[in-house]
Amino acid sequence: MKKRSSQSSETRSKQAIEKKKILIAFGTRPEAIKLCPLIKELEKREKAQVRVCISSQHKELLRGVLDDFGVRADYDLGVMSTSQTLFDVTERVLERIREVLSREMPDVVVVHGDTTTAFAASLACFYMNIPVAHVEAGLRTKNIRSPFPEEFNRRAIALTARYHFAPTMSARQNLLREGIDGENIFVTGNTVIDALSTTVSPHFAHPLLDGAIGKRIIFFTAHRRENICSLEDMLRAVFRLVEKYPDVLFIYPVHPNPRVRDVAERVLGRCDGVKLCSPLGVYECHNILARSYLVLTDSGGLQEEAAALGVPVLVMRDETERCDGIKLGISALVGTKGHKIFEKVCEILDNSELRERMSCSENPYGDGNASKAISDVLLI
Ligand code: UDP
Repeated sequence: MKKRSSQSSETRSKQAIEKKKILIAFGTRPEAIKLCPLIKELEKREKAQVRVCISSQHKELLRGVLDDFGVRADYDLGVMSTSQTLFDVTERVLERIREVLSREMPDVVVVHGDTTTAFAASLACFYMNIPVAHVEAGLRTKNIRSPFPEEFNRRAIALTARYHFAPTMSARQNLLREGIDGENIFVTGNTVIDALSTTVSPHFAHPLLDGAIGKRIIFFTAHRRENICSLEDMLRAVFRLVEKYPDVLFIYPVHPNPRVRDVAERVLGRCDGVKLCSPLGVYECHNILARSYLVLTDSGGLQEEAAALGVPVLVMRDETERCDGIKLGISALVGTKGHKIFEKVCEILDNSELRERMSCSENPYGDGNASKAISDVLLI
């Protein structure tokens, strides 16, 4: 092997010293889907030294996403336990990430969105005077108790953050209204749009789609904590919809939460027009979504993904922090009452022009370059 000159090794070590140590901390599936594109982008940059710390707030769902994107965690805080409460997660993340931060002493810690992992990690950084970069900053319902505890988490993270990466101008406005300095807010688009460019393929095939030929697929998910009490009523609406429309197929990945699984099995388990399945991998999810006629969900991320894929969304919540889609008419709030959900889905299934109008609008959530923009700012 050729020996390199001492000058170049000197230059190399100087470069190594100039690297910025960026620790990325997260714990759930949606955070992983939105942070993996950023991790991959940062790993390509010479100036970045990347460390990944997962809390495993959601264990199985998270692992699948990391495997799909080929991301390896340097630290796993292993906080998940059966029947975990918000107290458990907050306390364990706060205490365990402290050790990681003390050992790594990163230049900046990246957190995402509104989870309890993100909140506790940013609080730990605040205590240790480590700069926080908040990805997907500025989303607000303006109701501190809804979604719970996410609206509190995202507002609290904003208080600790040095960099606020807002996906849209309206998120930026929310932050400005709270007194955040405009110089620290960067409108980048949402990193989930970056993820879609690596996951969606025209050649995708899946057994779930075998029974869907000639049918209109409605992609369905529901598992928000605040919707569990209404879930049975919501699922009865689905039952009535497939009775009325034999050309419709619901694909419903059921969340592993036993309270969700039990009611889904009981109400829809024997229903021909509904395919219940285990949570899908991110490739399966995005590709089935891309082939759907409509999305019916209480999820946040699916509202952005569906908008980017031109699929209309009915949101089974009373309020949403993704207001841009509502303003443009790509998505609509339908609440959690079964009869309202039934009526609104019928309206779209009976009116193809309405469906067309909802799917033709521009996508407000980004152009697929958010990870690049965030990396550029972090590595200045
Ligand atoms: N998702 C997935 N498999 C599924 C259902 C959803 O990979 O079976 C993805 C989906 O594409 C989206 C995210 O999980 O990116 C949404 O997760 P969730 O609804 O749990 O969280 P939220 O977006 O509301 O924070």
